[in-house]
Amino acid sequence: MLDLKLYQSPERPTWCPGCGDYGILAAAKKALAELEIPPHRALIVSGIGCGSKLPHYMKVNGFHGIHGRALPIATGAKLANHELAVLVVAGDGDSYGIGGNHLLHACRRNPDITHLVEDNRIYGLTKGQYSPTSELGFITVTSPEGTVELGVNPLAVAIAAGASFVARGYVGKLEHLVGLIAQGVQHKGYALIDVLQPCVTFNRVNTYDFYNERVYKLEETDYDPHDRLAAFQKALEWDERIPIGIFYQEERPTHEERFPVLREGPLVEQILKPASEEFEQLKAEFV
Ligand code: SF4
Repeated sequence: MLDLKLYQSPERPTWCPGCGDYGILAAAKKALAELEIPPHRALIVSGIGCGSKLPHYMKVNGFHGIHGRALPIATGAKLANHELAVLVVAGDGDSYGIGGNHLLHACRRNPDITHLVEDNRIYGLTKGQYSPTSELGFITVTSPEGTVELGVNPLAVAIAAGASFVARGYVGKLEHLVGLIAQGVQHKGYALIDVLQPCVTFNRVNTYDFYNERVYKLEETDYDPHDRLAAFQKALEWDERIPIGIFYQEERPTHEERFPVLREGPLVEQILKPASEEFEQLKAEFV
């Protein structure tokens, strides 16, 4: 295991005391350290939101993108250098609202990216509006009489869209979350890890107490994460008991593996300029 200090950034988090984002930051560092992926071999891409400040707080390659667009940026980075461990860290509004379209395409393309969703079921940075995962009837400043929309079920959506690794973690079970992130990074393909992350300032429903009373680990049951239909059914379970762990995993070629040009090595290390003879042929053909 590498020294955790390697990932220490000089920047101090500005999150509220008790925010679940601290746990996600600690878990991401520990997972990379355990996998012995040094900072220069990792890239974290984020969107906009409280949790999307994470790349500033961790010493790895970082790209703080725009709202909802972290996945396409990360996909491009992975195609440019597929030897990097690429992670996306973004909130539920970012990943399932404005970025929902990108989520569907990541699921079917299967880029080798680990997507951590800081799912606090509310918009925290903009002071407490309901988000795509807020439940029907959830009262916020923008829904004073309760939301009138069903919440998105991200795990069911991802399984239906063809994701090859679908999991849920909880910041109140930190070692378990470290394990999930490590398995997501090791998985060859797109790994969605929805992380239950209490927003202690604006969400007074989905609190640490709420989750502590309900979560249980799938691996402590006889659940088989290789059965897609069973995974879909399990993803619908959200009541007195809330499962965490790997819901679904399958092996299939990654997005990068389907590009013959990448078999010769990362694009960033290839000389892409055509040889002068080829260039003259292209000129004669097209110019
Ligand atoms: Fe965390 Fe909520 Fe504070 Fe944002 S507003 S830093 S999500 S506790």
